[in-house]
Amino acid sequence: MKIACNVTGQAALIAELVNLATPHRQGGAVVGRLAHEELVGAFATKLDANARTALHADPSAGPRLAELATELRRALLAADPSITARHVNAMIRKYGAQPYLPEDANGPFHLSFHGTAGSAVDTLAGGLATTLALIMDGYGPDRFGECRAHHCDAVYIDLTRNNSRRYCSMACTSRAKTAAYRTRRHTI
Ligand SMILES: [Zn+2]
Repeated sequence: MKIACNVTGQAALIAELVNLATPHRQGGAVVGRLAHEELVGAFATKLDANARTALHADPSAGPRLAELATELRRALLAADPSITARHVNAMIRKYGAQPYLPEDANGPFHLSFHGTAGSAVDTLAGGLATTLALIMDGYGPDRFGECRAHHCDAVYIDLTRNNSRRYCSMACTSRAKTAAYRTRRHTI
């Protein structure tokens, strides 16, 4: 059985939102927190046209997105899988995530888990929280982490087959490889 809902795309969105909204170090530089309007603008570019329009029309989107990012980061970096599960369950309840099939006459149908608590951010948040639950179930509880590269604490979600991801981005992967090469050369 192939699960149709777009876990891969949603997982990338979760990491994007957390890294846009929370201050962190990336590549040795401190990346500040985006102001609320900047956060809405930057995150909206990652969404499909309908979700983008809804987000821009929601006057409370900025602070609500920042709050959601804090909740997601807390879940991703919890010390224990049972604590991650508790955070994920709390988000599913808070945002009223419900499964439904969008009524698109032209199909194909894709199961969605939008939130039902009212605002555009609630709609998004329900889907993102459910995505974390699906990853916990389908991939295992050890798929979330903080980048291992020097001076980077961006988050990542690992959907590789062999659970091998350790870095937030291609840039940090190559930075870490270069650093390891230099260390080896100095120690030979
Ligand atoms: Zn990184």
